[in-house]
Amino acid sequence: MKIIVPAKRVVDYNVKVRVKADGSGVELTNVKMSMNPFDEIAIEEALRLKEAGKATEVVVVSIGPAQASETIRTGLAMGADRGILVKADGIVEPLAVAKILKGVIEAEQPGLVILGKQAIDDDSNQTGQMLAALLGWSQGTFASKVVIGDGTVDVTREVDGGLQTVALKLPAVVTTDLRLNEPRYASLPNIMKAKKKPIDEKTAADYGVDIAPRLKVLKTSEPAGRKAGVKVKTVAELVAKLKDEAGVL
Ligand code: AMP
Repeated sequence: MKIIVPAKRVVDYNVKVRVKADGSGVELTNVKMSMNPFDEIAIEEALRLKEAGKATEVVVVSIGPAQASETIRTGLAMGADRGILVKADGIVEPLAVAKILKGVIEAEQPGLVILGKQAIDDDSNQTGQMLAALLGWSQGTFASKVVIGDGTVDVTREVDGGLQTVALKLPAVVTTDLRLNEPRYASLPNIMKAKKKPIDEKTAADYGVDIAPRLKVLKTSEPAGRKAGVKVKTVAELVAKLKDEAGVL
């Protein structure tokens, strides 16, 4: 069984994001970019399934600018077999991403697609669900455990108030939650090996997808700054402030 893992190039999670002066978006110039953390978890899960003999090939797909090939190389260095870069400049909204992925999947015929539950830049949490709908496949979202059976996959999902396990027929779409696994670090020999692994280049037009945005960003703004705190001298003063000023007691 082949597994496809879509991986997005996003602003590194350690970077303090700054809003552009004109409010049109966030500053991306000279900002460190990395693989979306949930997608690292997705690649890790695909690799574990391959190592357990449940999958034969892991293919990483990224839709983005030429530099998204670095994101794919990161996945190849972790152990994925090959990559597909669908070149696209500017913002590609989740629906367009899902349509492109559908095209890739129809060409590649995987048994399983594992995506991140959300990209940490737009926090959309839409692509996996839209992709499953477009393909007419089952979906298991927010996975904290994935068990492959005979033509099936059991996905344990993190839901409000606990865990829910659903049994899906393969082929299926799974999205990863934070506790599914801890992604491995790429070793130096594997980083070197990854340089020789193939990355196919495609465009959205190859899959007949129009990536023109359907949404217009009206404004992007920083969160309101927090007010300075005050020091209290006694517990009694603290309790009085919590009661009378904060109104939380
Ligand atoms: P989102 O719906 O934007 O929160 O993204 C959810 C997941 O869809 C991500 O974790 C990725 O697995 C996948 N995805 C979103 N955008 C892209 C992209 N441009 N290239 C590859 N995968 C993507």
